[in-house]
Amino acid sequence: MSPTTRPAIFMDRDGTLSHEVGYVNHPSRFRLYPWTADAVRAINRAGWLAVVVTNQAGVARGYFPESVLEEVQQRLREGVEAGGAHFDAIYACLHHPSVGARQYRVDCDCRKPRPGMLHRAARELGADLRSSWVIGDRHGDLQLAWNVGARGALVKSGYGLGELTHLAPGWSRPPDLVAENLLEAVEHILGRDLE
Ligand SMILES: [Mg+2]
Ligand SMILES: [Zn+2]
Repeated sequence: MSPTTRPAIFMDRDGTLSHEVGYVNHPSRFRLYPWTADAVRAINRAGWLAVVVTNQAGVARGYFPESVLEEVQQRLREGVEAGGAHFDAIYACLHHPSVGARQYRVDCDCRKPRPGMLHRAARELGADLRSSWVIGDRHGDLQLAWNVGARGALVKSGYGLGELTHLAPGWSRPPDLVAENLLEAVEHILGRDLE
């Protein structure tokens, strides 16, 4: 348990930090957006926690081994570090409630929009969830935020524009923020302009 708490910006991976290409079943398919390192660096400089929360049920489904996920996360880490930024943690849910090998076929509490990964960040990193945000390109990312009393930002990258256009009119609660991309969302949340 961390002695002090800080707000966090939780970021979805595919469609938010990196291009949404379907299952990233080989590291060569993983491509960061050009603004990702700038966005994460802004979070670091503001003193907020920068945490990745990603569902990777492709592991449970047997589409790729856990080692591929680790390689991809390493690329993600190196990509933002090359831009002078860092993540405080990268959390992934590898489970699926009804499909896959036994160790992954789990009705877990960490598959978004369930809040297990956010609770873990509260426990391990001292994230203050009620003052935190989740940024993602899907409604489930917003639900994740709301499930812990945080706020949710929808980006138009990845599936975001389509969700906004076709699905958002039916949502019972609108996103707390809509932004073109991760950088715009972070700038808005932190409430300041970047050089
Ligand atoms: Mg996504
Ligand atoms: Zn899980």
